[in-house]
Amino acid sequence: MKKRKTVLVTGGAGFIGSHLCERLLEQGHYVIALDNFFSGSKDNVLHLLDNHRFELVRHDITMPYFAEVDEIYNLACPASPVHYQYNPIKTIKTSVMGAINMLGLAKRVKACIMQASTSEVYGDPAVHPQLETYWGNVNPIGPRSCYDEGKRCAESLFVNYHNQNGVDIKIIRIFNTYGPRMRPDDGRVVSNFIVQALKGEDITVYGDGTQTRSFQYVDDLVEGMLKMMETENFTGPVNIGNPGEFKIIELAEMVLKMTGSKSKIVFKPLPKDDPIQRKPDISMAKEKLNWEPKIPLEEGLKRTIEYFKKTIL
Ligand code: NAD
Ligand code: UDP
Repeated sequence: MKKRKTVLVTGGAGFIGSHLCERLLEQGHYVIALDNFFSGSKDNVLHLLDNHRFELVRHDITMPYFAEVDEIYNLACPASPVHYQYNPIKTIKTSVMGAINMLGLAKRVKACIMQASTSEVYGDPAVHPQLETYWGNVNPIGPRSCYDEGKRCAESLFVNYHNQNGVDIKIIRIFNTYGPRMRPDDGRVVSNFIVQALKGEDITVYGDGTQTRSFQYVDDLVEGMLKMMETENFTGPVNIGNPGEFKIIELAEMVLKMTGSKSKIVFKPLPKDDPIQRKPDISMAKEKLNWEPKIPLEEGLKRTIEYFKKTIL
């Protein structure tokens, strides 16, 4: 077994955080999950609570936190547009003050810290597919800016703590990720479509559905995060996503077919500043991390549909 470490996961009771905590425990580490339960829930980690190496702490990362840890994964931040636009000022505070607090902790205890950044730093990208060298096309005053600019500022904080204070940092830019433990009311497209299909409700396609996204199954992402953490002398930023690109209308049709649902597709207005296209270039992840996603959309959807069948029906 690898050296047993104490690992802090902020946002550990969220969708991605709960999967990451699970894997870290499997590897034999001690795990502290910090969460304010805004979009996450104790239910996501209920199955881990009996493990003596796991601690769940109710804490808001806009406030400092102190613990002796070896590694920090900074995931705390609502990720669904519905959630992050609910209280935009709080979203900015979580990204910016949260990053400052966690970087301060990493500096004090000499921990390696990874930032869960996002493909949203590329905004509505004019370059396709998106490479890490692309600076992005973000509206700084639009409805998504609380998230996009918060995450961009966090990247800047990470890089500057590294350059100025020698903090050991890692930045990953995560592309649309889905899987079990997304909330049924999460608001993001994969969970919305599956829940709507299973309940026989209308499938809500925003705009004409020709906008594209690239969907990554959560297990692939967690594998990429672990590989990034163990790769020495590489700070990123690095894209972690599945380059398979799908139109939203194609996703709706796949979900309908796979669930055998009789739901109808209905078209709703496209939210302001909704990116038209998104697809990661993952050459850097392949080269530096020897990582690439393994689970195709159809397989990942199958697993996610099974999960929602068990939890909502
Ligand atoms: P999520 O909403 O399920 O998880 C976020 C967690 O952070 C939740 O448990 C929430 O309660 C917690 N949280 C929010 N604000 C907090 C605060 N101030 N203090 C402490 N905890 C707080 O979303 P997710 O999909 O699991 O996303 C996790 C991280 O990955 C986020 O930082 C997100 O920006 C990033 N990310 C996710 C995706 C994706 O497609 N899922 C894509 C890009 C980036
Ligand atoms: N979307 C949709 N119907 C829904 C939810 C989302 O058509 O019920 C669209 C949304 O407009 C966007 C895409 O699906 O074009 C992905 O949206 P999501 O909120 O999942 O992620 P993001 O826009 O942040 O990539």
